[in-house]
Amino acid sequence: MFYADHAATTPCLPAATAAVAKALGDNLGNPGSRQHEPGRRALALLDDARAAVAGLINARPAEVILTSGATEALNLGILGVAARLISTRPRFVTWAAEHSAVLEPYQALARAGAEVAVLGVDRQGRYAPCQNDNGTALVSVMLVNNETGVIQNVAAISAAAHAAGALVCCDATAAIGRMPVDVTTLGADLVAFSGHKFYAPPGTGALWIRRGLAIDPLIHGGGQERGLRSGTPNIPGLAGLAVAARAAQPELTERIAHLTAMTARLEQRLITELPGIVIHGRAGSAELQLGLSHAELELGAPGNSHPPGGRAPGTTMVSLPGLCRGWLAQLVNVAASGGSACSAGSHVLAAMGVPDAESTNALRLSLGIGTSVSDVEAIADEVIHAAQRLAGLNR
Ligand code: PMP
Repeated sequence: MFYADHAATTPCLPAATAAVAKALGDNLGNPGSRQHEPGRRALALLDDARAAVAGLINARPAEVILTSGATEALNLGILGVAARLISTRPRFVTWAAEHSAVLEPYQALARAGAEVAVLGVDRQGRYAPCQNDNGTALVSVMLVNNETGVIQNVAAISAAAHAAGALVCCDATAAIGRMPVDVTTLGADLVAFSGHKFYAPPGTGALWIRRGLAIDPLIHGGGQERGLRSGTPNIPGLAGLAVAARAAQPELTERIAHLTAMTARLEQRLITELPGIVIHGRAGSAELQLGLSHAELELGAPGNSHPPGGRAPGTTMVSLPGLCRGWLAQLVNVAASGGSACSAGSHVLAAMGVPDAESTNALRLSLGIGTSVSDVEAIADEVIHAAQRLAGLNR
C-alpha cells in the first residue's frame, strides 16, 4: 500500500513512538504532583514539550498552551477571544475555505448572536485582505489549505485586521513542518496546529497566544495550562510531540526540497498522461509551478512573509473533467482521499467555484517525508491507470 494521505495524518516518527512508549513505561506521576519525584519527572517532560513546540515556531515557551490537537486549539482561540470581546466587538470574519474546526465555532458564535462574515475566495482559493471596522473582534485565516496546499498571505490579512484593532487567529495545521512558521513574522495573534500532521502522535497539538493577550478557557477545572486548558495532560503523547518538533526544525529545508521534488514529479506525470487534468489552486496551467521557490521557503528567508498564490509542497488536489465518478474507489494500492478527511464533500472546492461534477470526483494526493521516487511513480501509475479505466467505462 502506497500512502498518499499525509494531509490527513502522518506516520509517527519511530523516535517519537519510542518516546511515547518510554513515557508510558516510566511510572510517571501527575505533573501537578510536584511533591514527589515521579510527578517532577512528568513535569519535566511537559516543560520539555512546551520548549520544543515553542522552538519550532520561534515562540516563548510561556506563550504555548498544549492541547489535544488543532480542533481544540482553534476552538479555544476563537471562542476564548469571543468570550472576552463579543459584547464590545460583535463581528467575526473568516473565509469559506477554512477547515470545519474554524467554520463550526463561527456557526456557534452566530447562534450566540455574533455577526459572522464568511467571505468568498477566488478561483485559485486565495483570500483577499478584508475591510474591517472597529466592530470586528477576530479574523481567522489558515496559512495553508489542507485540501489544495494553497498558501494565504497571513501577514497582509493580519495587517489589515490589526489596522482596525481586530485580532487574528491563524490555523497553521497544514503548514507546520512543510514551510517555515515563525510567529514573530507571521502577523497573527493566535496560532493553532496538530502534532499528527508533522510525524508526532495524534492527540497532541498547541495554541500559541501572543504574550499579553488574555482569552477565556473552554475547559474549566484544575487550572492546568495557565488556567486555559484544565485537565491532566497527555504526557506520553507530548513526549512524542517534543521529539517530532525537534526533528522537524533542523530538517525543514531538506523536507521542503524533498516534498517539492516529489510533488513536482507527481504533477508532471499527471499533467502529461491525463490531458485536461485540473490541479486545484495551481496558478497557470502551462508549466508546473509550486508557488514558492525552495529559496523563498528556506528558514530565515527575509521577512518570512509567505507571498500569496503559491502552494506548500506535498498536497495535490486534482479533478479530471468529464470522468465518471469513482476515481478514489478505483485505487487499490494507493491510500488517498477525496478531500478533507473530516468532511463528506469538498466545501473548499465549492468555495473556489469548482463545478459539483468536478469536485465530487476530486482526488487529493498528499506526500510525506518518507515518500520515495519509486513511491511517486507507483502512485502516479495507479492513479493514471484508474482514470484511464474509468474513462474507458465512460465510452
Ligand atoms: N485545520 C486543518 C487545516 C486541518 O487540516 C485539520 C485536520 N484535518 C484541522 C484543522 C483539525 O485538526 P485535528 O483533527 O488534528 O484536530
